[in-house]
Amino acid sequence: MSQPPRSSSPIDWRQVSGLLQDIVGPEHVLADPDSIDRYSADALTPYRAYYADAAFDRLADVIVRPADTEEVSRVVTFAQKRAIPVIPYGGGTGVMGGILPVDGGIILDVGRLNRLLDVDPSSMIAEAQAGMVLQDLYDGLKPYGLMPGHDPYSVPIATVAGTISTNGVGYRAAAFGPMGDQVVALEVVLPDGRIIETRPVPKQSTGPDLNHLFIGSEGVFGVITRATIKVFRQPEANAYATMEFADFADGFAAVAEMAALGIKPTLLDLTEDDEGILLHLLFEGYREGVDAALKRTTAICKTAGGWSVGPEPTLDYWRHRHDSALNYRETVLGRPRAERWRRQWGRTFDYLHMSLPTNRVLEYRQRADEMLAARRIHVVEYCLWSRPEFFSMLIVPDGDRRVDGRDGYDADVRANLAAGVDEVLTLAQDMGGVMEYCHGVGIKLHHLLERELGASRGAMQDIKRALDPAGILNPGKLAL
Ligand SMILES: Cc1cc2nc3c(=O)[nH]c(=O)nc-3n(C[C@H](O)[C@H](O)[C@H](O)COP(=O)(O)OP(=O)(O)OC[C@H]3O[C@@H](n4cnc5c(N)ncnc54)[C@H](O)[C@@H]3O)c2cc1C
Repeated sequence: MSQPPRSSSPIDWRQVSGLLQDIVGPEHVLADPDSIDRYSADALTPYRAYYADAAFDRLADVIVRPADTEEVSRVVTFAQKRAIPVIPYGGGTGVMGGILPVDGGIILDVGRLNRLLDVDPSSMIAEAQAGMVLQDLYDGLKPYGLMPGHDPYSVPIATVAGTISTNGVGYRAAAFGPMGDQVVALEVVLPDGRIIETRPVPKQSTGPDLNHLFIGSEGVFGVITRATIKVFRQPEANAYATMEFADFADGFAAVAEMAALGIKPTLLDLTEDDEGILLHLLFEGYREGVDAALKRTTAICKTAGGWSVGPEPTLDYWRHRHDSALNYRETVLGRPRAERWRRQWGRTFDYLHMSLPTNRVLEYRQRADEMLAARRIHVVEYCLWSRPEFFSMLIVPDGDRRVDGRDGYDADVRANLAAGVDEVLTLAQDMGGVMEYCHGVGIKLHHLLERELGASRGAMQDIKRALDPAGILNPGKLAL
């Protein structure tokens, strides 16, 4: 354990709830069994948390819903003094178990901090509160002719701070980068309750950029309360294109050449599944730039062996890009855990998102294929998303069958899938890559993080100890 043990004296939760009510008001402290149940899990189902079963046994003790930064600070200060865990909670849509209260404690829902505070079209920045849902951000920017750069499947359900804290990747990442790249400045409540603000400039030479302490940090170093992010003009022109390839390696060659030349489509998705190998492309921006990028990209793809199948497949793909999250919002979000786990995924599968040096991606695919085939695990989809380095595999084990709730699965099939997943994730690490580029670590990948961080883990632990002496912020995460 890197952190000093928390006080072993039992916490009087009735008293704690009363004191929290004094801070945020009685109606914003929830301790009823239904709320505790709903808040104690995100979109990770127990089936896929292969080595973290026990994390689902511990529930939160109380939920607080502060109204502003001041209240967040008072809650965190209170918790630090009593060594009570605090788990920052955005939309609860993470797929790695990042908000699971593995030691119980207070879930701090930033959902009431949901306003767009400022839009500055000349500086091309906007200021939003932490709990603002991305769809509301899109809607708020639209009247200004602007849009954010982050466009994940989960636009209808994920929040500004949740996407910063996982450094998520979306459909427009080929042009604008992941959510972390959108961050210009942050307001953060540190684990001891202090409020800090970074400055809204694109670059500084006055010490390290502290924004990066919080980007992708899953809430372990502070609670983000406000973010200034880059915004972009709604494009004056756009062009959709779909290229088909006979071989994934040919598509990969085209994508790598585009990246090397500096061509940045908005959308880049090379997918191989049982319907073939398609490269979906969308170019957005000013007319001459769009035309030139489309022309050169088409030539690159043809040289690599591809052929055009017209814009329609990509138009259709683009129109439906948020469907899975809309469906999730209708059928899963906010439901009791057991119901979510029953309805969420009908079948056993896993979806892996590795990042590798470009020159190792095809070799990695071949070696991972061999490892998975030996375990009778089928890859039903390979994908490059946004960059040649971002490689994903959707895998399904032999003997796959319906998963009903938490325990209705075949233990041998699951153990085999778990071992296969670990083999290919550690292979990515051993080949110079990382095991996840998109969703964070949470509890699902926690057991492999120490291996990936090496000596950097000690430095991270030192920072954590200095900022969070009682180890209250999201304990059990990021190998801290
Ligand atoms: C249908 C569906 C589609 C998805 N598609 C994508 C996709 O395309 N791309 C992608 O990247 N992800 C995707 N995800 C995963 C998920 O939406 C992202 O991980 C998202 O970034 C999580 O945002 P959230 O607001 O729900 O965060 P939460 O799940 O609430 O939290 C995520 C992490 O951030 C921390 N956190 C939350 N708020 C704060 C705060 N204010 N301060 C500090 N830490 C905080 C939490 O403690 C936790 O560790 C998808 C999920 C679903 C269910």
